[in-house]
Amino acid sequence: MSSRTPLMAGNWKMNLNHLEAIAHVQKLAFALADKDYEAVEVAVLAPFTDLRSVQTLVDGDKLKIKYGAQDLSAHDSGAYTGEISGAMLAKFKCSYVAIGHSERRQYHRETDELVNEKVKAAYRHGLTPILCVGEEEQVRDEGRHVEHTLSQVDGALKDITAEQASTIVVAYEPVWAIGTGKVCGPDDAQEVCGAIRGRLAELYSQEIADQVRIQYGGSVKSGNVAEIMARPDIDGALVGGASLDADEFVKIVRFRD
Ligand code: PEP
Repeated sequence: MSSRTPLMAGNWKMNLNHLEAIAHVQKLAFALADKDYEAVEVAVLAPFTDLRSVQTLVDGDKLKIKYGAQDLSAHDSGAYTGEISGAMLAKFKCSYVAIGHSERRQYHRETDELVNEKVKAAYRHGLTPILCVGEEEQVRDEGRHVEHTLSQVDGALKDITAEQASTIVVAYEPVWAIGTGKVCGPDDAQEVCGAIRGRLAELYSQEIADQVRIQYGGSVKSGNVAEIMARPDIDGALVGGASLDADEFVKIVRFRD
């Protein structure tokens, strides 16, 4: 069995205002307030406008729930209207930041080069990137899903040191499975997650590759999480829609129960 602590992260996307966020995190904390869940790390990726409220709640009540953002700027400060820097997220004591989510790549035309700049920005400010990679449906139909996903990994990790890479979280999210209800079969997900770990071993070392947590994301629910988590190279889930329902997210976190 792997020694990697599973990471279950809820990507709220553009949902939950700061009051709803507080109520939601309180529910999660209450439902997970026992020893059993300590073997699983739980994080929420909230909209920027929620982060201060989440921080106050987590700090004040000493909750074990981690939190982070869904994106950051590649720049540290300056004339970048509408952007939020890694320094600002670090000030809110964020642990994680999602980078290169397919919705950012698709709707905001984020390239592998920009994703790489954002990964560097995250490390400059002590944030752990959750690097999102994965193929569109047509790429899978053409049988190029592994090659495509590994090229996104290569692009994102350009000039990233071994020390930095050892802490990254990689989320394999086939685009055709995000928000569609179509789940990638556990064997298909394992194929790509195993290939990602193999690429990390080539780029760095087997030791580093063995430390990195690789999540699966794409229509994860309480009903399918256990079989996905049973695969050797899958160390957690990045959960979108199902993370908005606190009861359902708790069931996902408790996949071992
Ligand atoms: C996501 O947004 O990263 C995601 C995996 O969404 P969903 O779980 O809704 O497919």
